[in-house]
Amino acid sequence: MKKTGRSLTAFRVLFDALARHFAEGNFLLRGLTVYLGACLLDAASRPLTERCPQMTKPRCVTVGSGVSRWLMAIGCAALIGGFGMSMARAQGAAQDEVKSGPTASDKAAADEAKVIYRHARPANTAAGAGLKRKEIATGRGASPSASAAAGAATATPADNDFLRYLGDLTYSGGAVARVAEQHPIFLLPNGKCLIASCWGNPEGFLRDQNVSEFIHITDQYVGTTANNRYPVGAHKLISYKPTPRTAPLTDNDMIAFVHTVAASLGQTGYAHMYHVFLPPGQDVCFTAGDGICYSPDVPSTFFFCGYHGSVDFSDIGHVLYSVEPFQNVPGCAVRPGTPNGQLVDSTNNTLSHEVFETITDPDGDAWFNITDVALAGQEIADECSFFVVLPSGMAFFDPTVSVIGSHRYAVQPEYANNEHACASNP
Ligand SMILES: [Zn+2]
Repeated sequence: MKKTGRSLTAFRVLFDALARHFAEGNFLLRGLTVYLGACLLDAASRPLTERCPQMTKPRCVTVGSGVSRWLMAIGCAALIGGFGMSMARAQGAAQDEVKSGPTASDKAAADEAKVIYRHARPANTAAGAGLKRKEIATGRGASPSASAAAGAATATPADNDFLRYLGDLTYSGGAVARVAEQHPIFLLPNGKCLIASCWGNPEGFLRDQNVSEFIHITDQYVGTTANNRYPVGAHKLISYKPTPRTAPLTDNDMIAFVHTVAASLGQTGYAHMYHVFLPPGQDVCFTAGDGICYSPDVPSTFFFCGYHGSVDFSDIGHVLYSVEPFQNVPGCAVRPGTPNGQLVDSTNNTLSHEVFETITDPDGDAWFNITDVALAGQEIADECSFFVVLPSGMAFFDPTVSVIGSHRYAVQPEYANNEHACASNP
C-alpha cells in the first residue's frame, strides 16, 4: 500500500509539473507527453503475446493481466485528457499573452498619481536594520510615531480601555480590505522568464492561502469570518527591458505597471490587489535619488525586500499594490531546508507578509502598533518577521513550517490580537 501511495504521489507530482509547463507553453514537454500517451495507448492495444513473448514468466503475466490493461487505459485517458485540458487553457491564452509595458498615458497617469502610502519590509542587511530604526513607512506623515501617537489621542480604538499587550495592533479608523482579488503582474525581462523558474508558484500559494485557516487571522481585524475572501483574479505577464544596477526601477515605474493592468482590467478599489513581481537581478528604489532600495549588489542601499502601498490615480481612482522583488538572495531568502526550497518559499514568505498587511492596513491608517516605541508603526506581519543568523554569518528569514491550504509551506506567522502573539492559525 505504501508503495502504491508513493507512486501515485510521484505520478501526481509529474502530472502537476507537466500541467504547469503546458500552461506556460512548453511545447517540448507537450510533445513528450503526447508521445508518452501514444506509446501507452499503443502498448495497451497490442495482443498480449506481442508484449510478452514468454507467457510463462509470472512477472510478465502480471503485466499483461486484465487489471494492468485497465490501468494502462486509465493512464492513457489521463494523459490525453490532460492534453485536452491544456489545449483548452492554451486557447484561453489571450490572457496569458505577454503584453508590452506601460504606454505614455500609463506613465503620465503614474506621474500625476498621488502615493497615499508605502510600507517596506526591511531586508536582513545592515542597511535594513537601520531602516527599522528610522522608519519604513511613507505616507503617515513626516514622523509616523508622532502621528500615531496623535492618532491615539484623538481616535477611540475599541479596545483601549484595558491593559494592552505591547504587540497588540490598534485600529486607527481607516479602510481595510475585507474581500479582495489578488492580481499578480509578472515582469518578464525581454518577454522571457518562466514563472516556475523565476518565482516558483506564487499563484498556487495564493490559492492555498485563500482557503487556509491561516488567512482567518485577518477576521478579527476586518470584521468578517467568511471564507474565500482573497481569491486569485486575472494576472498579467508583461515584457519589459531590464535596467542596469546603476539605473534601478522606481516606485513610479511600479505604479505605471500597476496602472497598465488595473486600467485594462477595470478593477480598482479595496476589492483588488496588484502584486508586481520583479525577475532576478532587477533592482528597485522608492525614488531615483533616495537610495532606499532593493539592491542586493549594492549593500549600502539594500534596505528592503518588498513593500506594499496604495495610490490614487486621477482617472481610475484608488489602487492597492505590492512590489515583490526577487527574494532568493541573501538578505531576503528564507533559511535553507524549507519544504519547497528557497526559491518557492522565499517568494511566498514575502508575498504572504505583504498580502496580510495590505488586508489589514492598506492605506497606513487602519491596524498597526501604537503602544510601544520599539514597535510603533509596525503592522501585522512586521511584528512576526523573524530571522536567524547561521554560523556562516549569513542572515535568513526564519519562517514557520505549517500546512496552508493543502500544502506545507515555510511562511512567517502573523500577529493575532486575540492570542496576543504571533500565530499561524487563528
Ligand atoms: Zn511589513
